[in-house]
Amino acid sequence: MKPSFFDLTFDDLKALLSEKGFSPFGATQIFDWVYKKWVKDPENWTNVSKASREFLTENYDFEFLKIVWSGTSKDGTRKFLVKMADGQTVETVAIPARERLTLCVSSQVGCAVGCTFCHTATQGLKRHLKPGEVVGQYMAIQNWLFEKAGKDEKLTNIVYMGQGEPLHNYENMKKATLIFMSERGLNLGQRRITLSTSGLVPAIEKLAIDFPPVNIAISLHSARNDVRTEMMPINKVYDLERLFGAIKKIPLKAHRRITYEYLLAADINDSLEDVEALGKLLNSKESKINLIPFNEYPGSKYRRPTEEKIMWFLDQMIKRGFTCTIRTTKGSDILAACGQLKSEFDKINLWDKNTGPKIIPSIASSVLQNQNLP
Ligand code: SAH
Ligand code: SF4
Repeated sequence: MKPSFFDLTFDDLKALLSEKGFSPFGATQIFDWVYKKWVKDPENWTNVSKASREFLTENYDFEFLKIVWSGTSKDGTRKFLVKMADGQTVETVAIPARERLTLCVSSQVGCAVGCTFCHTATQGLKRHLKPGEVVGQYMAIQNWLFEKAGKDEKLTNIVYMGQGEPLHNYENMKKATLIFMSERGLNLGQRRITLSTSGLVPAIEKLAIDFPPVNIAISLHSARNDVRTEMMPINKVYDLERLFGAIKKIPLKAHRRITYEYLLAADINDSLEDVEALGKLLNSKESKINLIPFNEYPGSKYRRPTEEKIMWFLDQMIKRGFTCTIRTTKGSDILAACGQLKSEFDKINLWDKNTGPKIIPSIASSVLQNQNLP
């Protein structure tokens, strides 16, 4: 199997060209064709030398990842199941909000971290995604949007909040980020990319040194070690003291304020004691809090708090001087919301041939309305 062209950063391509005896300056034209003009067939690159075009055609794969399923939620969120060359699949979600269209990309097939509230965790880690499979989600979905939804449907932001723990796949996510940010290519600014991590301390320490300066979101979920350990087993090893020791090393100037994601689950982490612990742990000037009301999925063991409870929690944090927002749930009718993603999109789970919808009717109807079923 040939490696994917989309694995190459601009510098990788330059180095490859000169190693093979071609002019490294060709990299500028090639990135321009692929990422700016959206022409990925080397045959059509009129200002690139024939020899280098032939070399790339012979040795690299330019195919986009295959979209094997897509569904649109009633709120406009689109979920895609994308298939990689080895047949593994991941989910990618495009979320419209005001003038933005944010792509939530996966970083791994499955995840090894094992958070007890997360649907992805139930499948364990199958493998890391290569840089080209991360960039490939963007390319395949942008291409789909151009073709099916029109030229105006441009992805504007990327969040590493799909399946997987991005910092567990550090080097590949770093390369993918360099490709997203390359001025010669997609040219996405650092403010348009957000990496969310469950708190892999050694990787956070490294991030401060050599990761491109994207926005950082930390999945905190509790300011109490015992509660956090119950929700996220990673806290047994990298507890709050170690986590915050590492966070302090992230240069704040480049990353501005850090966002803390706080999944709110009924009777788990939504009491006054939880509010007080959170208020004490975080510095209101340096942190933003993003509350994520728990999204239920078939078999989930936590529950979503009532709307009053969610608003009460928000109010408590605002009273303590924090910038605090609630992440609106998007795409839950097609299981596309945070934590609902899982690779094998199993139609049987949602729709029984004989008895009809097995979960909630809206899920089944969005599946049925879809013309693109595998
Ligand atoms: N692995 C990374 C990024 C992917 S998850 C991380 O954990 O940060 C993106 C966000 O969704 C995380 O904050 C995660 O904790 C949250 N999440 C996971 N399962 C959820 C669920 N069922 N309901 C709401 N949020 C969930
Ligand atoms: Fe992995 Fe994030 Fe899910 Fe935890 S919440 S299991 S780190 S994907």
